[in-house]
Parts: sequence; C-alpha cells; structure tokens
Amino acid sequence: MNVPQSYRLVRRDARAERTVVRLRTGATFGGDEIAICAGPCGVESAEQLETAARAVAAAGANVLRGGAYKPRTSPYSFQGLGEEGLKLLRHAADRHHLAVVTEVMDPRDVEKVVRYADMLQIGARNMQNFPLLREAGATRTPVLLKRGLSATVQEWLLAAEYVLLGGNESVVLCERGVRSFDPATRNVLDISVVPLLEDMTHLPVIVDPSHAVGIARLVPPIAVASVAAGAHGLLIEVHPDPASALSDGAQSLDCAQFEALMRRLAPVAEVAGRRLPRRYRVVSTESASKPDSAVRSSSSGVRLA
Ligand code: PEP
Ligand code: MN
Repeated sequence: MNVPQSYRLVRRDARAERTVVRLRTGATFGGDEIAICAGPCGVESAEQLETAARAVAAAGANVLRGGAYKPRTSPYSFQGLGEEGLKLLRHAADRHHLAVVTEVMDPRDVEKVVRYADMLQIGARNMQNFPLLREAGATRTPVLLKRGLSATVQEWLLAAEYVLLGGNESVVLCERGVRSFDPATRNVLDISVVPLLEDMTHLPVIVDPSHAVGIARLVPPIAVASVAAGAHGLLIEVHPDPASALSDGAQSLDCAQFEALMRRLAPVAEVAGRRLPRRYRVVSTESASKPDSAVRSSSSGVRLA
C-alpha cells in the first residue's frame, strides 16, 4: 500500500498499536467492542429525545446521537435548537447512561459544545473546514470525522491529520456514503474503505448507513454488512415517529426497528470477532422508576447484561 509521507500522524505505521478511542463513559471505538451511536437526526424536543434515548439504551446502544446545530441544504429548513438542544442531549444521555456525540459546525461553537458533548461530530459538509479541524484538534474531546460528500480517502485522512497535529489523537473516521450519478439511494456506501483504511491508518472506522442509503428499509442490511466488513461501530438515525421528524425522517428507524436491528447484529458482531456494547439492565421494579440512581448503584437493581 502506497501511503504518502504527508500522513505523518495518521498512517498505520506511525503507531505500534491501533488507536482505541475511549469516551468519558467508557464507550470505546477500535477495540473488541463495537460502538453503537443511535438517536434522532436532530434534537427536536425534550419528549422526542427522552423517548429515543430510552429506547436506544434499552436496545443496547452506548452513545446518543442528535444534532443541535444542523447543516441544512435550505436556510428555510429546521436548523436545530442550538444550546438548548445540547442541554437536552446531556440530560437524556445522563439519565440513560449514554455518551453524547453531536455535530459542531462553527469553530466559534467548539468551546461551548465540548461542555456538553463526549464526542464532537464534524459533518460531511465540514470535513475540509480547516479552522474547525484545528479548533477540534486543540481540544482533548474525541472527534468523529465524517467523510466529505465527494472526498477521496486521501483528502479524508489529511483532514484527520489536521486534528492529530493539534495534539488531539482521539479521532474516529465515519464512512457515510459518497455522491454518485444515481439518485436511487441518497449516496453510495463505499464499504471497501473499511478494510482499506485498516491497512492505511491506525484510527478506528465506523459506518453511518442511514445517511449512506437514505431509506430506512435499507439501513438494517447495510448496517449488518458494515459490521461484517469490520467496522468498529455504527451511527444509526432513530426517531420515535419518523413520519413527523423535522429532518431525515425517511432514513430513520423507529424504536422497534432499531431493537430488531440490534438483535440481528449480535451474532454478526461475534462472527466478525467483536461484540456489541455491554448494557445495564434494571431488574427490580423499584429501581426501574429511578433510572438515574439505578445505574449508579452497582450493588442492587442493575445487572450488566
Ligand atoms: C447527520 O449526522 O445528521 C449529518 C448531517 O450527517 P452528514 O454530515 O454525514 O450528512
Ligand atoms: Mn441526519
């Protein structure tokens, strides 16, 4: 594999070991355990987020996703709730023992977003926003770097290089499909980058099948294929009522569909030599009514499933 010298920090042989990115909650990307990031495209209300967070946690996800700052093609579309959305994310995630990954679009917002989030998402449209990459590189908050809409693997790795150069070594790459000539699906998932990047970089790679295909019915089979191909995690859009979603409803799974996907994934992860995140289960009725205290008291009420 011909890897240019300009990938000084991200290239596979820059490290003896592969990078394992660990979030504050214990969720990891790059180890034996797969990270499952799930939640709505956008944070819309406390009720919507609480329902989604409860459902994805119960199904075994370990990271709550949701946009508070939304990159929308039209300036007239829902733009996100801003800082109010960040507060709702933190609250819902803490209640359900999840980490938070959320998008930051503006370098001036990085300081604010890191106060609420465990992981900064840099979206496809901002993959080459170099001031944003540098600002994220100056933090010590892990970064989820999505592939640009039509970015080459080289451009993507060099974008990651900017973050590492700032001293932030916790970067996870996320394949989310690239533009093609064919509008049959929203994008085309380049699943080959999963094993390709394994040879090129020590950084973990996850797949976002939701934005890749744009059609909810296609998300589960493509999620399964991604894990089989060796992805270190998944990013899945889940909405309690996809038909009423303010963004990306067509590609969002409802809570029952997400639970069914998690069941389907478990044996595939095992065949790929990985496992799904461990999860806490509330076993006593008394603790079930108080999820916050239940999760923290390890002696009673909660079992590791
Ligand atoms: C998102 O995750 O909701 C999003 C906008 O993704 P992308 O940047 O991949 O389009
Ligand atoms: Mn989305």
